[in-house]
Amino acid sequence: MWRGSVRGSSAPGTSQSPVDLGSPVAGTEGELVINYRTSLVFAREADSTLEFKVASGSAIAYGRRRYGLNQFHFHTPSEHAIGGELAVAEIHFVHMDRDGNPAVVAVFVDENGESKGPRRLEQGMPMGLLLPESTTHYAYDGSLTTQPFSEGVKWMILTERVTMHPSWIEAFCERYGPNNRPVQPLNGRTITLG
Ligand SMILES: [Zn+2]
Repeated sequence: MWRGSVRGSSAPGTSQSPVDLGSPVAGTEGELVINYRTSLVFAREADSTLEFKVASGSAIAYGRRRYGLNQFHFHTPSEHAIGGELAVAEIHFVHMDRDGNPAVVAVFVDENGESKGPRRLEQGMPMGLLLPESTTHYAYDGSLTTQPFSEGVKWMILTERVTMHPSWIEAFCERYGPNNRPVQPLNGRTITLG
């Protein structure tokens, strides 16, 4: 039901996500420091995706704020686009600062048959495995991409990508199908890159 209204012209707000990142301006909004540790993760199905709740201890610093990592989940294909192009998947790392302000770090995924297969995670998930080396990122102010599409979300989309095995992507798609929200209008917002 809500999908119909969202895909129409009556979006819930004017600063929605995802967007096309194709026309960024140079310069960063703030330095991004990612400090994830090996953590226990708990998988659960939520909102047409597989969500991994992360035990506390992992965080990012952005500007002068610290945001704790709550969970990460996947979208296939990607939600954010670059010049109209989608990646095969996108990982969202969802954080919250202590005042309840959300920040999401997004990572594009490419397929690569050479990448390592699944591993046993009884000792916890080395969260860094899901991240590229570089923290160069696009940044803009947007919204949740699922209901209730609340705005005031700080988005940081890393430019460097990670790879996953095509069989994993295929298995995810089979179960959850396309679960990407379409690109939303920028409405004058600025995207920075740095
Ligand atoms: Zn998401």
